[in-house]
Amino acid sequence: MRVRVLGSAAGGGSPQWNCHCETCEAARGGSRARPRTQSSLAIRGDQGPWFLVNASPDLRQQLETLPPQPVDGVRGAPIAGVLLTDAEIDHTAGLLLLRESATPIRVFCDAAIELANRHPRVSLLRPGIGVGGHCIPIDPNYLSHNVRSKLGYPFRFVELAQEINATMPAYVARRAQNLLNADGLALHGAAVLLLGVTYKANIADQRESPATPLAEQLAALGAVVSYHDPYVPRWDVPRTDDLEGGVAAADLVILVQPHRDYDADRLARIAKRFFDTRGVTSVPEAHRL
Ligand SMILES: [Zn+2]
Repeated sequence: MRVRVLGSAAGGGSPQWNCHCETCEAARGGSRARPRTQSSLAIRGDQGPWFLVNASPDLRQQLETLPPQPVDGVRGAPIAGVLLTDAEIDHTAGLLLLRESATPIRVFCDAAIELANRHPRVSLLRPGIGVGGHCIPIDPNYLSHNVRSKLGYPFRFVELAQEINATMPAYVARRAQNLLNADGLALHGAAVLLLGVTYKANIADQRESPATPLAEQLAALGAVVSYHDPYVPRWDVPRTDDLEGGVAAADLVILVQPHRDYDADRLARIAKRFFDTRGVTSVPEAHRL
């Protein structure tokens, strides 16, 4: 195994742009201390691609220091994945620099998300097929509309978030297609069961539920879609009352909302294929988003 220290400084690097302490001045002078970028590691086996431990804002500069290695094609990359040890901006901002990769980069972040969510008011960063309800899909649009019309420039951060949320159902449909493909099956004609079609767990509210565009996308690709939801007596596609029977019979089960009625690990074991879009399973039978 090879470990390469890409950076070892705290946020802002060293010298920090607005600091005139002894260490920073020494780093500027280059005599007693060397300039350092923000902390990050690169790790690899004797062969194969690198994995990063955290992605610092200095990532671009840091990657240039890795020894050259053969990559596939013009857009191939030597980085196969990133392990996040926390959710700090100093350790995550570099992910933005990796967004143009030809193949999706794997981000190992479950433990970091769990840590971040221990904050009493934070329960975000959970995977899902998009957002629903009357706030998040709609209200930020008023904000960005006002920024555009009153200040005259786009509110890019909000618009980008809305765009990503809006494209999630299509992404999940594509992943569903790939899961069946991997077993030599087509999505066209496959029985797909959606579990939980409300916009959040343990309620009956379906306003702006991203399950609706997901069901539409799957149906448009030829899937035979049905649903199970203890809180929703009628919906756009046929309902199944028999949870375990329906899960066992479907070619693919997609867990959309983790209602408390669902023992996701148990259902994943019963299903032919189980796609957990909420990161609540812990058994190897489940495919996670
Ligand atoms: Zn300093």
